[in-house]
Amino acid sequence: MQPTLEQLSLTYKNLPDDKLTRLAVTDAASLRPEALELLKAEIKSRGLDEGITRGIDVQLNNIDDTQLHSYISLIRSQSCPTCGDTSQQLNAALSGTVISIIIFTHYKKAFSIGCPACLKKTNQAATLKTALLGWWGLPWGLIRTPEALIKNIRTSKRLNTNEASDILVDFVRNNAGIIESIKNNDQSLQVMLTNVNNKQHYNK
Ligand SMILES: [Zn+2]
Repeated sequence: MQPTLEQLSLTYKNLPDDKLTRLAVTDAASLRPEALELLKAEIKSRGLDEGITRGIDVQLNNIDDTQLHSYISLIRSQSCPTCGDTSQQLNAALSGTVISIIIFTHYKKAFSIGCPACLKKTNQAATLKTALLGWWGLPWGLIRTPEALIKNIRTSKRLNTNEASDILVDFVRNNAGIIESIKNNDQSLQVMLTNVNNKQHYNK
């Protein structure tokens, strides 16, 4: 059963600022219109940053190419969350690591954003680990290991072109609400990029 508007209003009132913000900038599109209005009202009454309301609106409309590209350049012009470098445009890459333990073979793909040099380092570390530890599982170690190695090498080559990778474009598109809400705050953008690198594993 759907909660009544009173119940919803109370739920929003009881959410701490960070949870309320997270709901607004990531899940607004899944809320029904009345719920959205309540959420916006609650954000306003707390005096939270107006960027959050903009972050809601971005999720409700399909963003056009111009907007997408402006978010992509914004993200790419941040300093590298790993080394702090600002001289190069950031990019994103997936690095695959295969580890085999007895008969089990684990294939993990880690998503990271950073300057090309840091992305390459992450990629090389994954490649080395895979080359040393991937082969020992039968049969999947023998299948997954070359697969991951080939993909990592391709990723590393693509980083040389300095074009925004597809995976960066996907990331920006999927997180448009968050990016819109914090686009004027470099510090928040840094926190977002650091968090992405620390936890995100990509299943695709
Ligand atoms: Zn870096």
